[in-house]
Amino acid sequence: THFLSLSLQVKMSRPVQARRLEGIDKNIWVEFVKLAATYSTVNLGQGFPDFSPPDFLKEAFVRALSRENHMLHQYTRAFGHPPLVKILAQFFGKLLGQDLDPMANVMVTVGAYQALFCCFQAFVDEGDEVIIIEPFFDCYEPMVKMAGGMPVFVPLRPKAPEDGKLMSSADWQLDPAELASKFSERTKAIVLNSPNNPLGKVFSRGELKLIADLCVKHDVLCISDEVYEWLVYDGKEHIRIASLQGMWDRTVIIGSAGKTFSATGWKVGWAVGPNRLLQHLRTVHQNSVYHCATVAQEAVAQGFRRELELYGKPDSYFIQLPKALQQKRDWLVQSLDAVGMKPIVPEGTYFLVADISEFKSDVPDVPDSDEPYDSRFAKWMVKNKGLAAIPLSAFYCAAHKNNYNHFIRFCFAKEEATLKAANDILQKWKREKTSP
Ligand code: PMP
Repeated sequence: THFLSLSLQVKMSRPVQARRLEGIDKNIWVEFVKLAATYSTVNLGQGFPDFSPPDFLKEAFVRALSRENHMLHQYTRAFGHPPLVKILAQFFGKLLGQDLDPMANVMVTVGAYQALFCCFQAFVDEGDEVIIIEPFFDCYEPMVKMAGGMPVFVPLRPKAPEDGKLMSSADWQLDPAELASKFSERTKAIVLNSPNNPLGKVFSRGELKLIADLCVKHDVLCISDEVYEWLVYDGKEHIRIASLQGMWDRTVIIGSAGKTFSATGWKVGWAVGPNRLLQHLRTVHQNSVYHCATVAQEAVAQGFRRELELYGKPDSYFIQLPKALQQKRDWLVQSLDAVGMKPIVPEGTYFLVADISEFKSDVPDVPDSDEPYDSRFAKWMVKNKGLAAIPLSAFYCAAHKNNYNHFIRFCFAKEEATLKAANDILQKWKREKTSP
């Protein structure tokens, strides 16, 4: 046996990992989810609600499970359970003002995450450039790289708010000339995420038009991550870039039942777009995941049928959820503002970014540290105060992490009690900080 294990060892000494994995092994969530689980008493880190999905959705799941139809326990159509793709086609057809073919224009995925993965695998070739707007949902960068592409980053740049006003996510804007300078014949796609995680920015029609015109001019695809489409506040409107001139044919819209119905663990997502793009997503899907869980799809289909009936009415979950979340946003904004952790008021999503500059005295900077300041701050905060949040630098590429290293992101899709507990921690901290 000694001889055998020796020979095995020799064989194993060549690299096992494929080149496409080089440099993408670190993942912020693995690290911060573990820290939160170990130390936090109040977790406003990872983005998920700590409240239940609506009863009508849970009941739909239970009904699907207990119905006579035993086929709901078996495989369904690979590219989406027929009842779900049908209602998604109807629903998004109505929103976009055009007829959608459920079999050609919609594909169901394992969460929005897999829809993103399918897009990058389907469209990005070795050496293709993909424009990513910073700060960005972190997985875009490794997914582009894994497909052999080159991410090209363009930042949203903050401008000072009016005197005496809190900063808003709307104060973070693209510089039109800078954005235009990133487009070239090498550009294959741009990733748009509106409403944006982590800032909560909801792109205006003018901003979307700027992006759309560049996409059309340079024949570039748009991967439009709209998972927070229903979470928009203060009467703002979520505008779908696919509805702008020349964009339907070059856009894949990505959505998530997790965010839509507060059921992130169900991992039901979708891609909506023209068949000329979706056909290639189907190729990736059929060669990787193939099927998504049937029962969850059945329940989500029922949820959408209800929402189509109640569309625009006060009882609609898509009306009630943002209303409830706007209040939670306002609570957290107040809590943070009261202690001097300046919030950037988000126009959408369930995230809020806050400025930690006034708390620097508690967590001194280490000059020349490789780790961005906000990351060390967030770790210190969860370990010493029991409050979990995510450093903003996690949403920037390596070269830009240190440009935006004094902010942290909180998730406010939480029960009132959780937000109160966060407020208590912040108040106590503030008292300790200011008393000698
Ligand atoms: N896109 C964005 C912007 C997100 O914030 C998330 C989840 N945090 C996803 C996609 C992934 O969604 P899902 O859970 O449906 O895979």
